[in-house]
Amino acid sequence: MKTPTELHDYSVAELAIQLRQRKVSAVETAQHFLKRSRDHAELGAFLDFNEEATLEQARSADAALAAGTATAALLGVPVAHKDIFVTRDFVATAGSKMLAGYRSPFDATVVVNLSAQGAVTLGKLNCDEFAMGSANENSAYGPVKNPWDPSRVPGGSSGGSAAAVAARLVPAATGTDTGGSIRQPASFCGITGIKPTYGRASRYGMVAFASSLDQAGPLARTAEDCALLLSAMCGPDLDRDSTSLDIPAEKFERSLDDSLVGLRIGVPAEFFGEGLAADVRAAVEAALKEYEKLGVKLVPITLPRTELSIPVYYVIAPAEASSNLSRFDGVKFGHRAGHYGDLIDMYKKTRSQGFGDEVKRRIMIGTYVLSHGYYDAYYLQAQKIRRMIADDFQQAFKQCDLIAGPVAPTVAWKLGDKSDDPVASYLADIFTLPASLAGLPGMSVPVGFGASDMPVGMQLIGDYLQESRLLNAAHRLQQATDWHLARPDGF
Ligand code: GLN
Repeated sequence: MKTPTELHDYSVAELAIQLRQRKVSAVETAQHFLKRSRDHAELGAFLDFNEEATLEQARSADAALAAGTATAALLGVPVAHKDIFVTRDFVATAGSKMLAGYRSPFDATVVVNLSAQGAVTLGKLNCDEFAMGSANENSAYGPVKNPWDPSRVPGGSSGGSAAAVAARLVPAATGTDTGGSIRQPASFCGITGIKPTYGRASRYGMVAFASSLDQAGPLARTAEDCALLLSAMCGPDLDRDSTSLDIPAEKFERSLDDSLVGLRIGVPAEFFGEGLAADVRAAVEAALKEYEKLGVKLVPITLPRTELSIPVYYVIAPAEASSNLSRFDGVKFGHRAGHYGDLIDMYKKTRSQGFGDEVKRRIMIGTYVLSHGYYDAYYLQAQKIRRMIADDFQQAFKQCDLIAGPVAPTVAWKLGDKSDDPVASYLADIFTLPASLAGLPGMSVPVGFGASDMPVGMQLIGDYLQESRLLNAAHRLQQATDWHLARPDGF
């Protein structure tokens, strides 16, 4: 491995040590990353900075570091947040015009938890509007570009998070994953990301898209860094999130080095069928071979309802979104139309102006599938199949400890390629949706390059609460290979 020469070359783990040994101060670190992020504004990754707030946090980290008694794991490490997390010192737009300039009176729990471990907030990151999308082209604030090839999308909806980490504008970032939005952009940008078990990380202060699916998680360059971040982010928040799990925070980094000898990784036939691009297949299969060298046993399994996850997700997620987004009425907060007649006219104009096309499409689909006469045919049916998808995983986990496959059927596509074809974009979510519907933890690990030298990610899915095992498997792979060390030209 190359010796880090510049601050942005350090991983989170390495940077935390440099800070602790006082080789560099938190203020210098924050200034370095702020400058670098501003210098690479062409990527469109950041939506907001607040230099004063960032430096203030860095100064208190330095004070704690100087005292030498602090135990916080991320003391002085800059982290940027997807703009779906509400923040007091930064705007929180959720990528929507509806929330242009919005500042929350409180910080999201995930933000609070990371700050409690000493992380310094560098800024807010671009994302698809209300996290709806797979390419970051649905943001009201413009698209994000993929640092590996700026004519291509970074993936979505956490596209700003993935691009910023891949371009080393920040050592790590938060994201949210409803149907793949951490795993798929991590895969498209050649970095590592993990979505924990539903309920592990609090949803309090995360602008809601589909509440039964939304989960927060980290994006970073290594599995080790993801473990450090995830340990800080997770934990019960029972008073504020009714679906928060009452399970104490874990130290996911503790089992990173465990041996993989005898581990059984299930390989679902449905993830390697027609529709999977040959380059992606080759990269994922090469990574599976590496696992065999590490003593892993590959087990053929089947997830028979994989295909159904697309229609099921695109009924349930819009249904929940249509309900969640009803709060944006121009009365309580957010955008309000400037000129209107009566109340109904005010609602109509406010929502027509404030929401983008994809959000409107989903509100209409969601309202339709929940309406009298269609509820049983669509929504109820989708809920039943969702249960069956979850059951299929439980069957599979009788034969294996983890499941591996591709994250997405292809590498990152060109900007604009799917923007006029929502169904083409929905279909590309096929491999990430099943774990989301089942509430299982899943991650993306870089496994080399495919067509046009674009990164390929391998997905690892674990049984409920098996994040430690996932991170352990990803870390051991990263110890044995160097795919995660590749960096985009010019960054
Ligand atoms: N691409 C999926 C969608 O558009 C997933 C998005 C997400 O996980 N937030 O809904």
